[in-house]
Amino acid sequence: IQISNLEKVYRTDEMHTTALNKLTFAVKKGEFVAVMGPSGCGKSTLLNMLGLLDEPDAGSFQFNGTEVTSLNERQRSALRKQNIGFVFQSFNLIDELTVYENVELPLIYMGVKPAERQKRVEEVLEKVKIKHRKNHYPQQLSGGQQQRVAVARAVVNNPHLILADEPTGNLDSSNGNEVMELLTELNAQGTTIIMVTHSEHDAHYSHRVIRMMDGQAILSSEVLAQA
Ligand code: ADP
Ligand code: ADP
Repeated sequence: IQISNLEKVYRTDEMHTTALNKLTFAVKKGEFVAVMGPSGCGKSTLLNMLGLLDEPDAGSFQFNGTEVTSLNERQRSALRKQNIGFVFQSFNLIDELTVYENVELPLIYMGVKPAERQKRVEEVLEKVKIKHRKNHYPQQLSGGQQQRVAVARAVVNNPHLILADEPTGNLDSSNGNEVMELLTELNAQGTTIIMVTHSEHDAHYSHRVIRMMDGQAILSSEVLAQA
């Protein structure tokens, strides 16, 4: 990922807010990067750009060699579905669907055939250690279990990139650590991860921290490997 001079301004009748101000940074394939910074510094806006959910006003965003800013909505949507998995603070599972059905949903959207879907869902539920709860509904699970299901849903397509927005924000520390260890494992298997977090503890699971202030990256530092 190469972001160069990315700009995003929110305009309302009364005011302009510059959310990203010539933001520039790069993330290599296979990296695990934490993005930190005070509330309002542009982290959510950045995640929306990286997730191809919103478009910048100016600047360049290259993903796997493709200049994303010149794609149309249809092309961006295809790139998103094939390459990017999302993990949210509030899990965002569908309460009316079982664990199994929640994880299967992205594969249905992708047009994957039923037999292949079943194989992949079973595999990924095993990977996140929640297979024994596959016929349960989200509300019947603990927060940590729900987030593991959400991670399974994010990776069932084998995306190259996981975007995580405060993935442990609603979890106690033991469940939070489990989710961070799961992300670490997925990263070790080759998935690039960009995670927004307020937690210095969680940032230690990453390779590098990008610190943002007022829509700019002010500092990018290596995280010392934990013993
Ligand atoms: P935003 O997404 O706009 O950065 P949040 O809604 O996540 O903000 O957080 C609201 C407020 O709580 C902010 O002031 C934020 O800094 C603080 N906050 C959120 N999560 C944490 C956390 N894990 N530790 C400390 N402060 C937090
Ligand atoms: P963070 O996630 O770091 O809290 P955001 O990306 O949410 O930061 O916000 C960056 C700035 O843009 C803030 O000043 C915020 O108030 C503003 N902003 C975010 N979304 C909108 C919006 N939809 N309309 C107007 N201003 C917005």
